Amino acid sequence: MDMFFIGFRDPLFSIIVFFAIIFIVTFFSYWWGRYKQGQDSKHLDKFLQQFRALPSKDELKVLISSGELSQKSWLLLANSYYKNGEYEKSIEIYNEILNIEKNSDTKEIMFLLGKTYFKAGFLERSKQIFLEILKREPRTPEVLHYLLLVYEYMRDYRSALEVLEPLDELKEDIALDSAYLHALEILNNNQLGEEQKSKKLLAIHKDSGALTYMVFEYLFRVNHEVAWHNLDTSKAKLLAEVLWKCDAKALNLDIISQNSFLRELYTARGDYELAQQSEIFEFDMLIGVEKRVDATLSFEYICDKCKSSSPFAFHRCSYCHAIDSAHVEWSLSRDYSRSFSEENNSFQ
Ligand SMILES: [Zn+2]
Repeated sequence: MDMFFIGFRDPLFSIIVFFAIIFIVTFFSYWWGRYKQGQDSKHLDKFLQQFRALPSKDELKVLISSGELSQKSWLLLANSYYKNGEYEKSIEIYNEILNIEKNSDTKEIMFLLGKTYFKAGFLERSKQIFLEILKREPRTPEVLHYLLLVYEYMRDYRSALEVLEPLDELKEDIALDSAYLHALEILNNNQLGEEQKSKKLLAIHKDSGALTYMVFEYLFRVNHEVAWHNLDTSKAKLLAEVLWKCDAKALNLDIISQNSFLRELYTARGDYELAQQSEIFEFDMLIGVEKRVDATLSFEYICDKCKSSSPFAFHRCSYCHAIDSAHVEWSLSRDYSRSFSEENNSFQ
């Protein structure tokens, strides 16, 4: 017993007890902090989870009909889903809003739904919606323009051309649409031979003064002599990729030598020596370098109206739907086909 009291009064014992208390307090405070952090993170995850997924169809029905959120808020939500490419969610919201009776904006919401179906690739449903709107209000140019697009995407060019009539009556400018749809109809007509197609396409090109790439891409593919003969060399830049990829045997030296852009292009490609230099940086580089260098041109197409870009040529912009709005830009790139054939030759 005495031993215990001696130990208890020992200053060393007090120090040990003091540090033990500090250790216990620190340990619990650390453990409590970790526990609290875990709980907060779980709560936050649970809270955010409800925004990641759209409510089920039934929940959506209850939410929209309860009127807790205004119709404008639902439309904004549907629009943000549309912009993010989540068309399914956008479609569900529009459909549920349309199910509410006494909706004053039915036509507008049907139009938004039709547009979303179109963007999502449900062409038949989108067509039905646009036809339904036009049945009630036939003089709606926005809807007619979209119906024309739907028919075009469905390759029903006859019906698309019929839509131009009411648009013309509404004083809409249909000249380019008409030329473009007629050209598409000709290109997709299996009854016509290549010669007939070429003649008809050239007539459309001359009448409209447009669709240069669309018409000449076809002509250079099927009959390069007709293509060279009818080419307006002042528009050669638009056709840079077609001309760059034109077979060496199909070149027309008489025409090429009369146009500075063509002279520089084919000197850069290595077919002729018709230019010493070029104001176009990429051509100048290719003219100046050793011909064995593995460099070529790669092409990109930019829409003049909405500035969207694509590595492939397009006649109608898939974003803003403008026709004949693309211009081509080029850059230097490695010529993989040349490197590949040289590697193969070295193995032989
Ligand atoms: Zn565009």
